[in-house]
Order: sequence, then structure tokens, then C-alpha cells
Amino acid sequence: MNADGEATVARYGVPAEQLASVFPFHFALGRELELVQIGPTLQRICPDVQLGADFTQLFVSIRTEGDMSWDWILQHRSHFFLFEHLATQLQLRGEFVQLPETEVVLFLGSPWFTDTEQFVAFNLGFKDFAIHDPVIDMLHIIQANKLALSDAHRLTEKLTERGLELTRARDAAEKANQSKSDLLAMVSHEIRTPMNAVLGFTDLLLKTTELSATQKEYALTAASSGQMLLAVINDILDFSKIESGADLKIEASAMALAPLLERVQRLLQPRTENCTLQLEIDADCPQQIIADEGRLAQILVNLTSNAIKFTDEGTIVLRVHCLESHADRVRLRFEIEDSGIGIAAEDLEQIFLPYNQVAGDSTNPRRGTGLGLAITKQIVNLMGGAIGASSQLEKGSLFWFELEFSLPTEHAERKPVVSQTVSPAAPGLRILVAEDNPVNQRLLEILLKQLGLSARYVSNGSEAVAATAREAFDLIFMDCQMPVMDGFAATAAIREREASCAAADTPRSHIVALTANAIKGSHEQCLTAGMDDFISKPFGLEQLRAALEKRLAVESH
Ligand code: ADP
Repeated sequence: MNADGEATVARYGVPAEQLASVFPFHFALGRELELVQIGPTLQRICPDVQLGADFTQLFVSIRTEGDMSWDWILQHRSHFFLFEHLATQLQLRGEFVQLPETEVVLFLGSPWFTDTEQFVAFNLGFKDFAIHDPVIDMLHIIQANKLALSDAHRLTEKLTERGLELTRARDAAEKANQSKSDLLAMVSHEIRTPMNAVLGFTDLLLKTTELSATQKEYALTAASSGQMLLAVINDILDFSKIESGADLKIEASAMALAPLLERVQRLLQPRTENCTLQLEIDADCPQQIIADEGRLAQILVNLTSNAIKFTDEGTIVLRVHCLESHADRVRLRFEIEDSGIGIAAEDLEQIFLPYNQVAGDSTNPRRGTGLGLAITKQIVNLMGGAIGASSQLEKGSLFWFELEFSLPTEHAERKPVVSQTVSPAAPGLRILVAEDNPVNQRLLEILLKQLGLSARYVSNGSEAVAATAREAFDLIFMDCQMPVMDGFAATAAIREREASCAAADTPRSHIVALTANAIKGSHEQCLTAGMDDFISKPFGLEQLRAALEKRLAVESH
């Protein structure tokens, strides 16, 4: 503060140092609104604010309206004023105080900033303000907000990054899952091929007449264990298909309801020892529904087999209620009730989760894979239905599922009834078998012989192509995976040659794939490769006969 300033302060009795440090932006005005005292910081940042200068030429009032005059100031003394310094746009906020017994008003104010950047632009530091100054508090708050915002921003960036990482991890997991499915497909192939021989030969063994009672018992045990193993493989395959998101196809067509339930009953009754398996079909249930018969049978067999597994004696009832009936659709509720060991309430909640088995004796022969109910639930859900269970320990369990089915129209196509008779022998049929596994070759030979047929045998695709070049075959059984040349390539080569000889009117051979691969896609692959039909391993007489009948049906057209 200059000497004049000190003199002024001294004249008004205000201690200069104190005022300067508490209000570094203050100023004092005389009656003519001339500046008579100026705070040191104000003077530093607004150089035209000089002692004796006309305040009204340097500042405008922003908030309080009126012509700036001595009276105007005194009138509004209790107000908060906001002045803007014209040269720098610095805004000062504060109030006037009239010094007693003087013709001077003192403006006690400080700069009004809404951002720390303005603060920096005026080349000010916190030391330029009084400690209690509210603008400092506000700036601190603003600064804190800014920091919080930038933190939030950083956090968002981190989250985005984390999201990307998760996407990458998910992609990797999906890839791993795909490899798992591929591995399962491969393992299934490896297991199904020898299973074909095991089941086929056991079947043949059982049909021979020279077996003693003991031998027959051994062979029956081997056959039923083989069937069980096959069921486990099928379960695992079904589940891997569900898990890998491959669509488990639901294909609906008109089917008869009661005969399906009767078949399930006929199939499973022999597995019960001291139980009866009863059917109760409400009279108002339709005779025909549109459904995927295979999948519906799978659900019923899964639930009923469980009921049988876990019931030592009593009754198992397979029930169908008609919940809703419309002209074009019905809603049915299927119930499988047993009087078996039951399930504790806490276990019941977990029962439909994969790999879940109620804790207990792990050597229990009843144990399966723990996948049956998970698969059943998935199929019911895929069909748009609901499934559940209630149970009481030692009393029994009731598993139910509800599904809606369309009803066939009057003239809807009926599925052809599968012929139970042996197909008419077609001894003249020229058959080629391409199969690398000698045991399976032998099995096919025996099965074909039972149908009154014989065949030529080759061990790989390349030999099959060569054989078909030499002579014509009406029917070719083609294994898909063979050394040297696989079944797909061989089929493609055969089809190519047939196409080039089309003019010579060569009949097209009927190629049936022998596939051990039950994973979705392999059947499509067979048809794409130019094959006409496929049989999944393990197969038996029935599957061969069906393929043969299809071939004959083609011929008769
Ligand atoms: P698993 O192949 O082991 O039978 P499921 O998924 O079919 O697998 O069944 C899972 C578990 O649920 C079974 O191991 C058994 O503990 C229990 N469970 C299923 N059905 C019944 C039932 N009807 N009575 C008692 N327990 C059952």
C-alpha cells in the first residue's frame, strides 16, 4: 500500500495491514465515488484501479440496478453487490460498510470465480485470498468435483477395458467349449464304433440256439450293460449339444398320444421288479397331437426310468391330464408319480442342475450321470413348456411337465405306420460295403445275410471308388471315417463319375452313410456330400432293414 493509502487508512482508523491481509481485494470510495483506498491484490491484477480514479468509469454493477451514486450505495448498503471490472472482466462480490463519522464507504469483497481456471487466468493463488473467503471454499468444492469427475472418467475407461477383457475371456471360453464339443464328437465316434460291434455281436450271440442258461445270462448282462453305456454316451452327447448352444432340433409332426405312452410302458415295465407301471390317460385328451415324438418319448423315458430306479416296490403311475382344450391346440400335463425313496426338500431345488445327484451312497448302482433331469428340463423348455417336481422322503416323488401342442387338422398327413414285417427279400440287390473296421465288416456281413443279402467289401474310400468304376452297385454302405480316402470324398468322386456318364443312362447308386458321429452337423454333412441316407452306429438289423426299405421305395418311384 502506498503512503497515501496508509494515510487514508490511518485517517479512517482502519489498521492497514490487517485490512490488507483480511480483505486483499477491498477498496474504499469517497462521496464522489473516487477511489480512496485499494487492496494490494486488487491493485496488482487491475493496474488501472488507482487512487483518485472514478470508480464508475472502471466498474459496472451486475446484480444491483440503478445509477451508481453515493446515495444509491448507501441505500443498498445491506445488499450484496457484484461489480465487474471493465478492463479485465474480473468480478468482485461483496458489501459496502460505511466508516463511522466519515464520508467514506468501504467495499469488503473478493473475486467471484466459478472455476479454478479463471482463478489461474488472473494469476492468483490461494495466498491472495483471506483464509475464510467463501470463494475459496467454493473453488475447493469445484476442484473436488472435477477430481471426482476425472476419477469417474478413469473408472469408466477401466470398466470399458474390463468389459473388453471379459469379451475376450468369453470368446476364449466359447472356443474352449467348441473344442470340448469337437472332442466329445471325436470320443463319441471312437466309442460308438466298437460299441456297434459289441452290441451287434451280443445280439447275434443271443439269437443262436446253442446257448446254455448260464451263457445266455452272461450274454444278456453284456447286452444290457452295453445298452446302458450307450445311454450314458447319448446323454453326454445330448448335453454337450445343449451346452455348446447347438440347437437341439425339435421337429413336430402328427403323432398318436396313447400308443406312445403304451410303448414307454412296454419298454420300461421289464425294468421294474416289484413295481407296477400304470397308465392313466384322461378321457378328454386328444388322440393325435402335433409333437416331436422322439423328444417327447425321451422326456417320458427319462422321468419314468428315474421313478423305476428309485422305487423298490409299489406303483409308478404315468398320468396325462388335459388342462386346456381349444379347437386348434391343447395344453397337457404329464405326471410321473412313484412311491419310492423320495427327495429331501433342500435337494429338490438342485435336482434339475447338471451333474447333480442327491448325496448318498456313491456306489449305488442306481447312479447315472446326473444329466438326465438337466437334459429333460432343457428339452421341455425348448418345446416351450414347464417342468417341476414335488416329493416327500420315504413316500415318493411326483415329476410333472406341461406342454402346449397344436392339433392336427382333419386332413392332416398321418405318419406312415412303420412296417413290422421283414422286407421282401431283394436277393438281386448289388451291395457294396466300404468299412475299414474288420469287426464291423463281419457284423454287416452277418446282418445282411440274415436279410438274405450278400455284398462286396472294401476297406477304404479309394477302393470303393475303384470298385464302383468296375461294376455297378444299387446300394453302397459307406463308412464316413476311413483311412486313405474318407467316405465323403469317395461319395463325391462316385457322384462325379455318375454325372459324367449320365448320357449312358447309368443308374445312380443309393449311398447310405455309416456314421458313428452323433453330433449335429454330421448328418447334414453326409447329405451335402451326396449321400442319400445315413445310419448311426451302433446299428442293428432294424436300422439296416429300414435303410433297405427306403432304397426299395426309391426304386418303386
Ligand atoms: P441320474 O442319471 O443320476 O439319475 P438325473 O438328472 O436323472 O441323473 O437325476 C438326478 C438325481 O435326482 C438322481 O441321482 C437322484 O438322486 C434324484 N432323483 C431323480 N428322480 C428321482 C426319483 N423319482 N426319486 C428319487 N430321486 C430321484
